[in-house]
Amino acid sequence: MKQKINRILIANRGEIAIRIARTCKEMGIETVGLYSEIEQTLPHVREMDFSICLGSGPLSETYLNISKIIQIAKANGVDAIHPGYGFLSENAKFCKEVKKSGIIFIGPPPEVIELMGDKAMSKMKMGEIGVPLIPGVLIEDLKDKSIFDLANKIGYPVLIKASAGGGGKGMRIVNKASELLPSIEGAKREALASFGDDRVLLEKYIVNPRHIEFQVMSDQHANHLHFFERDCSIQRRYQKIVEETPSPFLSPELRQQMGQTALKICRGIGYVGAGTIEFIVDENGHFFFLEMNTRLQVEHPITEMTTGLDLVALQVKVAEGEKLPMQQSEIKKQGHAIEVRIYSEDAENDFLPCTGKILYRGTPRSPGVRLDTGYQDGTEVTVHFDPMLAKLIAFAPERPQAIKKLQQALKETPFIGVTTNRDYLIKILQSQAFLSGDVTTKFIEQHHDEMIKKLQDERESQEKMAAALAIVVATQNPLAKKTTPDDFAQFPSTWDELSGFRNGE
Ligand code: ADP
Repeated sequence: MKQKINRILIANRGEIAIRIARTCKEMGIETVGLYSEIEQTLPHVREMDFSICLGSGPLSETYLNISKIIQIAKANGVDAIHPGYGFLSENAKFCKEVKKSGIIFIGPPPEVIELMGDKAMSKMKMGEIGVPLIPGVLIEDLKDKSIFDLANKIGYPVLIKASAGGGGKGMRIVNKASELLPSIEGAKREALASFGDDRVLLEKYIVNPRHIEFQVMSDQHANHLHFFERDCSIQRRYQKIVEETPSPFLSPELRQQMGQTALKICRGIGYVGAGTIEFIVDENGHFFFLEMNTRLQVEHPITEMTTGLDLVALQVKVAEGEKLPMQQSEIKKQGHAIEVRIYSEDAENDFLPCTGKILYRGTPRSPGVRLDTGYQDGTEVTVHFDPMLAKLIAFAPERPQAIKKLQQALKETPFIGVTTNRDYLIKILQSQAFLSGDVTTKFIEQHHDEMIKKLQDERESQEKMAAALAIVVATQNPLAKKTTPDDFAQFPSTWDELSGFRNGE
């Protein structure tokens, strides 16, 4: 059934709310935005046609308050809700409630969200479909002696992770049998506290892998497309900070195989909407299903830049009941795109999130550079929201040019007033390992100390330079020392020099 969407509620904030609103404007769709009391001055509030205050309090009272958000949607006559990423975007209950109230949810059906949001259930389903899986099981009973047999069979190191997990929370690498039970217990505790669900999986820990994911899009008429891969191997705390496409690692054959597997998954689960299928790829090029995110990803711009497509526009068309407007063979990729995530965090202090007021934010000026951000001069970075300040994306015909362009763009985009990982990101982009494309999920672990050392050396030499300059200025500037009228006798009078001008008045 087709239904034209004229007004959308964007149930999100910051850069992604702005990103979605931009496409809505281009499509002639009105936007209703949300903000909490402390966000009144943030750019996403002004970007919308209407913005509604969610009040104050914890997230459960604002961006995670399902009934409040649906009430706002109804009161403002929206046809659809776009959840963005994070918050309620993968919440099956929210999706159900939205549909129940007669509003279109821009995303897949709730059953699919539920299935793919659970690592144990989705793995089982993938097994049925015939998708390669990382060897592992759901741990049902801690007293079961077979846990040890299983870990032995898989071979150490093994990984314990929360079935309901996300954002890398609740993961533990276990190197030997004596660490197994304490790690499982710890992971269960963390999983229960973070996700309200203490089920954990035991998996083979793939050593030195790459994280390579495929962007997919499916319509309501069982048409499924993929828009190639994104290599997101550079991560800290299992969270991505640099993403690029194409992956320097994939051969055309492997890309073809993984793309076909992504489509097989979409068909197998009756997918609808935008999604991402994440794979882990080992050193020998064997790939395994990791998980599926049933929403738009943070890193979607690099796919947009290399395919020339607007993924949000496609999401809206699919939600309206339109057929995908192209065939797989018509989707071409061109050039190379890299994204970095600028966080307000201290890379020299275990990536601890930082807060503060942004006094000045730079704006990159080169063609082929995109800055997606929800912050500007004078805005506050608080503890209440994710510390990601911006995404900076560069596009160029070839990888080396894209890297150079992104380095330059980062230099042009400081966030003065808060500590950020900007200089650390520049160091990543300058490192030999990154330049050669030899990047695995171990990258940060392997190169962190060397990059921090470079940052510190650089800062030290800048400080020395600043001190030397200060001396030069102090000794050479006549105004900086005690002066007498005679000191100025050697200089011509400014008014003398301007006399011609004055006479001409
Ligand atoms: P989350 O849902 O918490 O993001 P994922 O399953 O998507 O968890 O994994 C996040 C990251 O953790 C991956 O990109 C990868 O770096 C690492 N990881 C997950 N499973 C494994 C594994 N079995 N072996 C090695 N690394 C893994």
